[in-house]
Amino acid sequence: MDQHFDVAIIGGGPAGTAAALTLCKRNDISVTVLERGAYEQPKVGESLSPGVRGLLQYLDLWDRFEQEQRLSLLGSEAAWGSDTLGTMDFILTLHGAGWALDRQRFEQMMADEVLHRGVALQTDVTVTACRHQDGLWHLDLGGRHITARYVIDAAGRTSRFSLRDGAHRQRNDTLTAISTRLPRAQGTQQMTRVEAFEDGWWYAAPLPSDQTIVCLFSDAERIHALRLTDPTVWASHLSQTRHIRQLIGDIDNCLSLETLPAFSSLLSRSDPNLPMVAAGDAIAARDPLSSSGIPNAIGGGIQAARVAADWLFGTGTLKPAYLDGVAQDHAAYLKTHWSTYRTESRWSNAPFWRFRSAQVCRGPSATIRSKSNGHRSIFVPSHVARWIADTAKHPMSQIEVVQQARSTFPDIPDERLLLAIEDLTHIADTVPTA
Ligand SMILES: Cc1cc2nc3c(=O)[nH]c(=O)nc-3n(C[C@H](O)[C@H](O)[C@H](O)COP(=O)(O)OP(=O)(O)OC[C@H]3O[C@@H](n4cnc5c(N)ncnc54)[C@H](O)[C@@H]3O)c2cc1C
Repeated sequence: MDQHFDVAIIGGGPAGTAAALTLCKRNDISVTVLERGAYEQPKVGESLSPGVRGLLQYLDLWDRFEQEQRLSLLGSEAAWGSDTLGTMDFILTLHGAGWALDRQRFEQMMADEVLHRGVALQTDVTVTACRHQDGLWHLDLGGRHITARYVIDAAGRTSRFSLRDGAHRQRNDTLTAISTRLPRAQGTQQMTRVEAFEDGWWYAAPLPSDQTIVCLFSDAERIHALRLTDPTVWASHLSQTRHIRQLIGDIDNCLSLETLPAFSSLLSRSDPNLPMVAAGDAIAARDPLSSSGIPNAIGGGIQAARVAADWLFGTGTLKPAYLDGVAQDHAAYLKTHWSTYRTESRWSNAPFWRFRSAQVCRGPSATIRSKSNGHRSIFVPSHVARWIADTAKHPMSQIEVVQQARSTFPDIPDERLLLAIEDLTHIADTVPTA
């Protein structure tokens, strides 16, 4: 017989487990969490900013968290905008020290609590399809299937479950991480460290073991062009860093690198009436530079649970407000995000930094025409650049090109389209053709 639940949560990461822990504060609701893994693999994302305390207290997890996670982070250091390391002590912030997380243990703790509080947590279960039929969700779990009245999509940055009925994930960039764990040098401090370079930036953080996590971040295209997933090339770039390499002890010969998507994105045009809501990275993903992914996912999971409960037992009006709130938060995050990148001006012509520092200059009413030599732009994929160049072959009003581009490529954010149009066209001296 099919299992049936009020709420099925796809993904048991920070967002999914926070949603489950919020829902089980009520005792009139049946919930399941469906998680592909079994919390046995190490996971990247190990520094936790001090502001998470209030969220963990709300979930009644704070005491256990404090007992289990012992390595506090005192702050962060960055060679960003210059070669010199600047320091930001957490002690100067409202909430005090952060944590160098044992991430696997952290997720196990959240999952244990979910089980302990009576939620049906199912591990080693991959949701392969999810369809809405006759007022119920039907979820395929590879060979068996369950039904639910409401679904929370907490399946992370690349989740496809919410991409339905016109909803799109707009990706702001193609940031990708290539990471590994390396031995920590003796006497290093409990600080995270960031160092910018021509094609991106490096990040290192102490782990509760005597290791350091080291990540190189760059755009997908640069990673491919420079062959940065090749361990020898990666290690050679690492040896050229000034500050990151000081944190690392002896490296043996075989590096095992992991490649992970780290782009910023926002799910847009979700149907406010569909009994499904996305949370965490599945709705709005942030650059790891912000160190806000985990708190954001936990906070989002809590809110998504309230949206689900409101649909099941209340007026069903919370979802539009939640979607507006997420979009506004993401817009505010992007503002800070781009301005942080603009403070690094040493390589302003390098594609990685130009992509992040360029600003829209033209007004919308200009008449434009494609440049004769341009079919490529760093701001959009090549098929979109070709479309812009072809569309504006004859003089056209810029606003018209923007409107057509928006409806043809709804997954490209507006600012990327505008920058690409500026890149690929010039102001025409003739009027638009009819
Ligand atoms: C390289 C890197 C470094 C980072 N560093 C930090 C950091 O130091 N601090 C910080 O706060 N944030 C960091 N982040 C961000 C942080 O890891 C994420 O924001 C956070 O994990 C989001 O939580 P989530 O629950 O939304 O998604 P996830 O943590 O991605 O969880 C999604 C879960 O869904 C499961 N799943 C996916 N598909 C299915 C399916 N079909 N069926 C069943 N289960 C499924 C996955 O197994 C996974 O457990 C980093 C991110 C990257 C990429």
